[in-house]
Amino acid sequence: MDSKEVIQQNRDYTLFSWSVQSQANPIHIAGGKGAYFFDGDGNHWLDFSSQLININVGHQHPKVLEAIKKQVDELCFAAPAFASKPRGELGKRLAEVTGLAKSFFTLGGSEANENAIKIARLYTGRDKIITRYRSYHGATMGSMTASGDPRRWAVEPGIPGVVRAFDPYCYRCPFGKQPDWCHRECVSHIEEIIQMEGPHTIAAILVEGITGSNGLLVPPDDYYPKLRALCDKYGILLIDDEVMSGFGRTGTYLATQHYGIQPDIVTCAKGLTSGYMPLGAVIVSEKIAQHFENTMLWGGLTYSSHPVSCAAAIANLDVYEEERIFDNVNSLGHHLGQRLEAMKAKFDCVGDVRYIGLFSVIELVRNKETREPLAPFNGSSPEMQKLAAYLKSKYIYAFVRFNMVWVCPPLVISQEDLDKGLDVYEEALALVDDLIKAPAAD
Ligand code: PMP
Repeated sequence: MDSKEVIQQNRDYTLFSWSVQSQANPIHIAGGKGAYFFDGDGNHWLDFSSQLININVGHQHPKVLEAIKKQVDELCFAAPAFASKPRGELGKRLAEVTGLAKSFFTLGGSEANENAIKIARLYTGRDKIITRYRSYHGATMGSMTASGDPRRWAVEPGIPGVVRAFDPYCYRCPFGKQPDWCHRECVSHIEEIIQMEGPHTIAAILVEGITGSNGLLVPPDDYYPKLRALCDKYGILLIDDEVMSGFGRTGTYLATQHYGIQPDIVTCAKGLTSGYMPLGAVIVSEKIAQHFENTMLWGGLTYSSHPVSCAAAIANLDVYEEERIFDNVNSLGHHLGQRLEAMKAKFDCVGDVRYIGLFSVIELVRNKETREPLAPFNGSSPEMQKLAAYLKSKYIYAFVRFNMVWVCPPLVISQEDLDKGLDVYEEALALVDDLIKAPAAD
């Protein structure tokens, strides 16, 4: 079967996510190694999106493949009421790296958030969940409702009890402030929401460790300590969605570890196995774990704590540690930050760059002074389409959304490959600059 036929059969018999089916334009992925994947025609693509910002240890890492093969030979499946060696071992490892107590395993991030919401409701006996507008928490009914992103519109009204707040989006502060002279209105307005809603009705505040697919919103240093204090004041749980920002993406296990706070519940997936097997986890604190010692945990999934997924996750964690992957993230992250700042200084179309570790975004504008976005919220523009097409023509796989383009390569990338990709980004940004400077045709 050649590539064309593979793509045709995919289109004939399968449905593509988040797509008008007739417009889906998939690449046939046939293999990969490290920071590259190979298409069915033999082209090598530099994966600047780590697939869905999940393949942290890169494509086809031999240690993870070996662990999966070994586990397949030993035991492929165990119902979740059984104990298994990989399940217990992974639970222990997750407690160690997060400082929390126990894990409930799911198949991915959406289910992790779904279960975190349920656990928070069971634990507190309250029902409301505060989330933020510029957020994505998944595509199942509860997690999609919890998202603030337009992707939620399709399921509205969704589940009851979700209340939304504004984000720490300093470049376009919803309160018209600047970080050096604001009063962190992004936190104090959440307190106002809590009071208006009734503190006794609010089970949890659910936030992404660092907002990912809504534009890499890195909060000011005191944001999390203030949010933590707010939760403590009202007996509200802090749920930290680390599905995208966790497991090395920012150079630590949890993005919130940069801010010295401890969440009550962490959800994770993606970088937990680097995508080699489907797995998510809800990791809870000791006090929440204790609560379920004497009361029912209402919930379960046939594939919870799947042994092969748990074995893949353990091997993936071993790779992080043995190969000192987070050191690479921290040193390359520094270099990436410098290159992004240089792009901001050089190109008229670059309004803002935001980065932490190998988690970064370039936000494009039509006019640097007015900050007019180069594409509307929830839309696109000819310039953004040109940028995306240019990157694609050079076999750089990048995540482009609204007026933003992400730089999120696998955490094992070399500086040489990082620079190679960033050079192509610069060519694309120069093209966009030409387009926005060109006089409008009459
Ligand atoms: N939370 C966040 C922050 C995410 O980025 C995602 C996926 N992009 C999810 C939850 C949902 O995870 P999954 O697609 O594995 O269900």
